[in-house]
Amino acid sequence: MPEAPPDERPTLHVEQLGVTYGRALSALRSVSLTVPHGAVVALLGANGAGKTTLLRAVSGTLRLHRGAITAGTVRYGGTDLDGRDPVAAVRAGVVQVPEGRKVFAGLTVDENLRAGRLGLGRGAPTPAGEARDRVFTLFPRLAERTRQAAGLLSGGEQQMLAIGRALMAAPRLLLLDEPSLGLAPRMVDRIAEVIREINAQGTAVLLVEQNAGMALSLADQAHVLEVGELRLSGPAGELARTDAVRRLYLGETSDSRGAA
Ligand code: ATP
Repeated sequence: MPEAPPDERPTLHVEQLGVTYGRALSALRSVSLTVPHGAVVALLGANGAGKTTLLRAVSGTLRLHRGAITAGTVRYGGTDLDGRDPVAAVRAGVVQVPEGRKVFAGLTVDENLRAGRLGLGRGAPTPAGEARDRVFTLFPRLAERTRQAAGLLSGGEQQMLAIGRALMAAPRLLLLDEPSLGLAPRMVDRIAEVIREINAQGTAVLLVEQNAGMALSLADQAHVLEVGELRLSGPAGELARTDAVRRLYLGETSDSRGAA
């Protein structure tokens, strides 16, 4: 069958998604969400809720972790992404920044950035030089350290490099897995600014975070996952005002609300 023409304003549609690991562990059950073109959507939830699993199902990396889609569909624009591999996702314009930064510690900053072009082939949407310029404009610190081993960068710089590497593929949808994890508050603010800027340049973002305050301040829509199922979904501002989110994810107590 001929490929569908590229969709200029692709939306991510995850419908009724079920995922298991190995033979038994059901990690997601009937999860549906959309990420419209140009939007920021936050996915919140406690440890083990299934947030990373959802990103893996979208980016085609599930199989690398012995997971499998057992129900539902993942579509991005005109492309089916369920059951595909990471190269198919990258070529469709979807790139994941893994949790824990995962830069290649023994390679230089420059080599890490070049790795972000792997799999693009000749259909690259943006020339490498242009993509690199965009990364260095966002992260001037990386431009000053192109020959440094990535393992010697600070935690915040490694997070910048991980995001920069993903941007080298010029994604239209960026999947970010807990970019604030383990970073000092000032660096978290900087990462939030960067996400805003990336989005303002036209890239949609699906943001997995335990830092609900940061995620809800950036997002248009938000979802809360609990043990593999969606519990709450809605505009981020509305979710931030619900009791459950305030108590469980924004760290408020009934006392602190009473005092406000
Ligand atoms: P965290 O915030 O701790 O990263 P999460 O919400 O991203 O949590 P997942 O990592 O998606 O949650 O995990 C969902 C469930 O799937 C958990 O029960 C987890 O133990 C399990 N799981 C995750 N990866 C694997 C794997 N490779 N093999 C088996 N089980 C896994």
